Amino acid sequence: IASKRTWWGNPMCMTCNTLLDRLIAEEILVETGIDGLYGRSGKFEDVLLRFDALISRFGDDQKADVIRFPPGMNRALFEKSGYLKSFPDLAGTVHSFAGNDKDHASLLETLEGGGDWTTGQKATDIVLAPAACYPLYPVVARKGKLPAQGRVYDLNSYCFRREPSKDPARMQMFRMREYVRIGTPGQVVEFRQMWMERGKKLIETLQLPYTVDVANDPFFGRAGRMMKASQRDQGLKFEVLVPIESVEKRTACLSFNYHQDHFGVTWGIRTAQDETAHTACVGFGMERVTLALFKHHGLDTSAWPEDVRKALWG
Ligand code: AMP
Ligand code: ZN
Repeated sequence: IASKRTWWGNPMCMTCNTLLDRLIAEEILVETGIDGLYGRSGKFEDVLLRFDALISRFGDDQKADVIRFPPGMNRALFEKSGYLKSFPDLAGTVHSFAGNDKDHASLLETLEGGGDWTTGQKATDIVLAPAACYPLYPVVARKGKLPAQGRVYDLNSYCFRREPSKDPARMQMFRMREYVRIGTPGQVVEFRQMWMERGKKLIETLQLPYTVDVANDPFFGRAGRMMKASQRDQGLKFEVLVPIESVEKRTACLSFNYHQDHFGVTWGIRTAQDETAHTACVGFGMERVTLALFKHHGLDTSAWPEDVRKALWG
């Protein structure tokens, strides 16, 4: 019988209890020994890249400037961005050996003895990008006043967040595609509204079940509690949520963020009228949407609904 067999319910794997177990058993993701850090199979990557191309088609009219930053960013600019005030627990820094022969010998000795060789590492001038748009704002500020129509950027980068989890949709290293709008409050608010509608259409095109909800970022600590409430009250963040890990738990796959003048003030970005620029971004969780597609349409991509196949493979 050609029943619609979804891969997480594959009877071949009787010992796989969790979604993550299934993904690894089916070689969709490749284990590295670290939660939230995986290799991607060719099959996974093919779907992800097709989804990336679909986003480009949805955003074609934006005539966005494309920039691909590497997954590391300038530490001094990261410090200035304010990220450490809000999310110190998620940040990742790059350290490296900066010693002489003697230090090298001592490093190897410590390693041999099972000690902590990392204590001798020094912070470099690079940190890991926490979101695709963080390296962008200082670049835009450097260009001087915005043109009257503002600017739109198309970004995609591997991002790091220190949030190890057994939920395969919560990775420590994952790709985020973004469109970022920088301009007057009117331009930016309209952009976000337009992308919320488009984002829903995109997910409908992929025939995934979803809901839309107001959301907040995971601001750290006691002060963070107020930030979360205020972000929600003002409706500054919305998400498109799709069940991935389980039916009960919905995962944010797309997010629509209005930063008001936060980055404009931080970086001194000015509009053509010499007012502080406002910014907004739409973020696409590349791995999350890919996982959602496998979850809801099954392991065999050739058996996916005709229209979904057409949208991805043409
Ligand atoms: P955020 O800046 O938190 O709104 O993230 C933008 C998008 O990246 C979200 O809508 C998610 O789809 C995706 N994302 C965020 N955190 C993770 C994670 N830990 N693993 C995979 N995708 C993520
Ligand atoms: Zn962003």
